[in-house]
Amino acid sequence: MTTDTNLDIAALDTAHSLHPWTHFESFVRDGPLVIERGSGCSLWDTDGREYLDAVGGLWCTNIGLGRREMGEVIAAQAEKLAFCNTFVDMTNGPAALLSAKLADLAPGDLNHVHLTTGGSTAVDSAYRMVAYYQRCAGRPEKTQVIARDSSYHGSTYATISIGKRAGDKMPEFEYATKGIHHISAPDCYRAIGERSEAEFCDDLVGEFEAKIAEIGPEKIGGFFAEPIQASGGVVVPPKDYLKRIAAVCHKHDILFIADEVVTGFGRLGHWFASWDEFGAQPDIICCAKGLSSGYQPIGAMIFSDRIWDAMQGDRWYASGFTYAGHPVACAASLKNIEIIEREDLLSHATDVGQYFEDRLSVLEGLPLIGDVRGRKLMLCVESVADKTTKTLLPDHLDVGKRIADAAEARGLMVRPMGHLNVMSPPLVITKSQIDFIAETLEASVKEVTDQLV
Ligand code: PLP
Repeated sequence: MTTDTNLDIAALDTAHSLHPWTHFESFVRDGPLVIERGSGCSLWDTDGREYLDAVGGLWCTNIGLGRREMGEVIAAQAEKLAFCNTFVDMTNGPAALLSAKLADLAPGDLNHVHLTTGGSTAVDSAYRMVAYYQRCAGRPEKTQVIARDSSYHGSTYATISIGKRAGDKMPEFEYATKGIHHISAPDCYRAIGERSEAEFCDDLVGEFEAKIAEIGPEKIGGFFAEPIQASGGVVVPPKDYLKRIAAVCHKHDILFIADEVVTGFGRLGHWFASWDEFGAQPDIICCAKGLSSGYQPIGAMIFSDRIWDAMQGDRWYASGFTYAGHPVACAASLKNIEIIEREDLLSHATDVGQYFEDRLSVLEGLPLIGDVRGRKLMLCVESVADKTTKTLLPDHLDVGKRIADAAEARGLMVRPMGHLNVMSPPLVITKSQIDFIAETLEASVKEVTDQLV
C-alpha cells in the first residue's frame, strides 16, 4: 500500500474501512469527511475548510489539538523506549509516574491504578474487579451488578452489556444479561413528570434500594454510574442523587464505580466529578479520553486501599492488556496533566463552562428546542415537535443530523445523536468561540425549523 498523497482518501476509506457506529447505507451514499489537521479547537478538512470542533473529538480533546510539546514528548519517548510490557513485575518510568499521579489526583483513598488501553477496557476491568474483590473479601456470591438505563460504558462485550442506551444493542447479537441489572436513568427532563426534583430523587433512590432487595444484597457486588450520563443524552441527576446512591452502595458492601471516562480531567472543572461536583466518594474511578486529551489511546481504573488490601496474598490477578502502561501513552498523559495544571485549565473550564451554559440556555426560547441541559463543557440541546408534551419528531426526519449538517456548512461541528445535538468542546475554548457556537447553532436550528414547517 503506497502513501501517495494524491490518492483519493475518501474513496479508499469507503471501499475498505468499517467505521465504529456507522450506518451502512448513508455512509456508502455520503462518504466520509476527511480531516487533515487540527489546532486548538479547530479542525481542517482536506479542502482546507476550517471547523470549530464543539464535539472535542469525542468528549476528549481537552487541552486542544496541535500542541508542539505533546508531539515532542511523544516523539522523545517513542525514540527512548517505545514499548515495554508491564505484565507481572516489569514496568517503565512513565507508567509508574502516571499511576502515582493519578493516585494523587483521585479523591479519598483511591491510591491504586490499573492502566488500560481506553475507556471500555477500564470499565471492563472494573467489572471483573467487582467479583474478584468481593471474593477476596469473603463475599463470593456478590458477583452481580446494577447499572442504569440510558448509560454507555463502552463497546467490549461486557461493557456494552452493562450499558443500556436505546439502539446500542444490535438485533444480530446476543448480549450478556445474566447478573446485569438496570434501574431508571435520573432523567430530570423526561422522567420527572409532575414530581419535584427532591421527590424524583427519593423515588430513584427508593427504586435502587428495591432492586437490591429484590435480587438480594448478598448477590450484588457493584453499581456503575456516569456522574452525568454522556452519550445517553447528557443526563444530569437531581441534587444529592449520586451522594445518596453511593451511601446505599456502601451500606450494602456494593462497590460504587464512577465511570468518569467523559467527566474526568476537567470537563466539569474538576479532575473528577463524582466527588468534587457531586460529593459522592467512589470505590473505583474509570477514566480515559481527557487523561491524554486524545493524544494517545489510554485509560485507567483507579481503585481504593480497601480493594487493594483485600487482594493481597498468595493469588494472581490474571487480567490485563499488552498495551497497559504503554510508555508513550503514559508520557503523553503525564504531559497532558502537567499542561492542565500549568495553564489552570480546571478554573478556565469552570469560568467558560458557566458562560457556555448561559449562552446556550437562550436556545430554549426557540420553538424546536425542548431542553438545553448539561453542565459546564458538557451540554446538549434536545429538539421536540411539541414543547409542552415533549413529543419527539418522527425518526425519519433525523432532526439532530439535519442541525449538525446545517452547522457543519457554517463551520461548526456539533454531534448529532437522534433528536439531540451534543457538545463537549476542548477546555481551552474561549468566550468568543462560545459566542460563535451559540450563534451558529441558533442559525442552524432556525434553518432546520423552516425546513420542517
Ligand atoms: N464510558 C463512557 C462514559 C464513555 O462515554 C465511553 C466512550 O465514549 C466509554 C466508557 C468507552 O471508552 P472507549 O471508547 O475509550 O473505549
